[in-house]
Amino acid sequence: MTPQHPQNNMEPQTPEQLPAETAKALPPLTPGTLYLVATPIGNMEDITLRAIRVLKECDIVAAEDTRHTGLLLQRLGFRKPLLSYHTFNEARREEEFLSRLKDGQIIALVTDAGTPGISDPGQRIAAAVLRAGLKVESVPGACALITALASSGLPTDEFHFIGFLPHKSGQRMKCLQSALACPGVIALYESPYRIEKLLGEIQTAAPERQVVLARELTKKFEEWFRGTPEELLTQIKGRSLKGEFVVLIAP
Ligand code: SAM
Repeated sequence: MTPQHPQNNMEPQTPEQLPAETAKALPPLTPGTLYLVATPIGNMEDITLRAIRVLKECDIVAAEDTRHTGLLLQRLGFRKPLLSYHTFNEARREEEFLSRLKDGQIIALVTDAGTPGISDPGQRIAAAVLRAGLKVESVPGACALITALASSGLPTDEFHFIGFLPHKSGQRMKCLQSALACPGVIALYESPYRIEKLLGEIQTAAPERQVVLARELTKKFEEWFRGTPEELLTQIKGRSLKGEFVVLIAP
């Protein structure tokens, strides 16, 4: 365990508190609101004071994986009622969310890591809540896309995020080519099992473009690779790369 990587520490973490006077002046949470709460993408210190307060003061935490979120809350030193909310029950949960919010309850929605709604559940329920005339609030924090882009050294003034490419080869190439036609940086998420395949595809579609791979951001084994797709394929050859990746393609 190292101080920089408290995600490895199973001891409950007590975050730094705001000075009592400042904390007293904070406005209470708004009843009947859905809060989309960002959680760390690796390093447990990357949770905001506001995220902790919303998780503590809400009526219920809706979580992509209740076990995972239960552990996060345990590390923060408190418990809350948890409701599962994931890709496979999003539609079914809609009514329940709306009726709880109409009753004035405060719901905090979290995913396993990062910002809800960004290649994760959240967008659909946020839209439904807004359509019903109810309130959605963002509690910003970690997001792998922005974390990678900000320290990639690539231009940050214009970028095009496409999330995960489809799995089928034909569809992947089509999506990739249409993204490559956009100005600015192209940003995507990819699983470690398909990273080599993706580099091969970029080599076919745009062999001259510089690519940045950001692996295991904010974690102990964070690693960056930079070069043309061909150079990156050489760099990662023979390594069984695990973990999570953000892929950035320079303009
Ligand atoms: N909502 C999350 C966010 O705000 O970034 C993204 C969730 S998406 C299901 C998971 C993908 O995000 C991973 O497959 C990987 O591409 C990227 N990702 C998440 N954490 C990461 C990390 N620590 N380092 C690099 N990529 C990460």
